[in-house]
Amino acid sequence: MKNTKSSSRFADDAPADPPADPPADPPLPAPTAPIQRQRARILIVDDTPVNIQILAQALTKEYDIAVATGGAAALELLRQPDKPDLILLDIMMPEMDGHEVCRRIKKDPATWDIPIIFLTAKGTVEDQQTGFNLGAVDYITKPIEIPVVLARVSVHIRLKRKSDQLEKLAMLDGLTDIANRRALDEMLPRECLRAARDGVPLAVLMIDIDHFKSFNDHYGHGVGDECLRRVAQSIEAVLQRPGDFVARYGGEEFCVILPNCDSAGALQVAENLRSAVAALDIPHAYSNVARQVTISIGISARQVTGQEICPPVIQQEADAALYRAKSEGRNRVVVREEGA
Ligand SMILES: [Mg+2]
Repeated sequence: MKNTKSSSRFADDAPADPPADPPADPPLPAPTAPIQRQRARILIVDDTPVNIQILAQALTKEYDIAVATGGAAALELLRQPDKPDLILLDIMMPEMDGHEVCRRIKKDPATWDIPIIFLTAKGTVEDQQTGFNLGAVDYITKPIEIPVVLARVSVHIRLKRKSDQLEKLAMLDGLTDIANRRALDEMLPRECLRAARDGVPLAVLMIDIDHFKSFNDHYGHGVGDECLRRVAQSIEAVLQRPGDFVARYGGEEFCVILPNCDSAGALQVAENLRSAVAALDIPHAYSNVARQVTISIGISARQVTGQEICPPVIQQEADAALYRAKSEGRNRVVVREEGA
């Protein structure tokens, strides 16, 4: 994916007067991130401990195993952030049977995409149909044949990995490897909702690279792309808390979401971002702001209410603050004023 044109929304982002002796393209090292491969996680749910033991023993060499001896315990485990990649689910259990557990897992947006394989002594066509209708991907009949379990588990783990990968790619910006606009459009309403529910402030930062159009025009798109990558990475490196989020909004714009963060905290983060990008020291001889690439940031940080989630008003406010940062001279942070 190329950044073939600058889509600056800032009309006055015209190139500054070029210096008499234009500098050569700055050399930019291309950092690479290693792809980490983790062991897949399997949740085994069965009310008979010996069944759990047999399955866990067979699977533990290749997979990380979690176990639950009942439906309620399984659902509780699934509320943890570390979700399994596959669930082996017994049907016949006291209190809550496997069908009911499956129904609840498939109804929850946080767990619906985890594949479920039913384990059962019941093997009639109707039973299997019920299971598939509830959203199970496969069926294993007891007594358990270990090679069959291993083969089926391996197939479904592979498929799950593939679909996770596709899902992730669809949410990634191809140029910078950070989240894309689509991911942001999913994340922001969710964070607004959460902030409204928890009664905590939410901060949104809109970020734009100053005079990027002239940077691109003078140094070329290859150097422009590299600049976008490095700015994206330095933003990502500044964000410290696990819930903090950055996406490429488009062109040379980025959007940061800081959950549970007030305007003082957001201002601190924004100033850190501005320093981090300046410290990259990417030469920009065609900017009238500084000798290197700089960014402007607009912030809106406040309590949100349930009504303003779609469209996210807070993002529009951050955007308006960014416009002010631009018109007031760039390379600066502007916090939206209350009631503005
Ligand atoms: Mg049972």
